[in-house]
Amino acid sequence: MMMCRAATRLMSKQLDGPLSVRETLTLRVHVMMCKACRRCQQQFGMLHDLGDPFIDALPDSDENAQRHRQAVEQARKLSDDRSQQARSEGNENNDT
Ligand SMILES: [Zn+2]
Repeated sequence: MMMCRAATRLMSKQLDGPLSVRETLTLRVHVMMCKACRRCQQQFGMLHDLGDPFIDALPDSDENAQRHRQAVEQARKLSDDRSQQARSEGNENNDT
């Protein structure tokens, strides 16, 4: 699994331009599983429009795009659930 440092580097790179498909998916999987990076990504302001620009950037493969879109939806749902959960738990500082 990708390290958090690499994940945040990709988040930063993402602000400058689109990541490769591989980078995008790698980052997304990490963020999906890593609470600290999810918060970090929120701070990057990326959560709101998670995914959409990257779906457009994908190569012409319906199958890939569909699979990717499903992953984005899952990630978005998961993030929403977790952030609501986190909010109800109050402010905890978790730097793992
Ligand atoms: Zn992480």
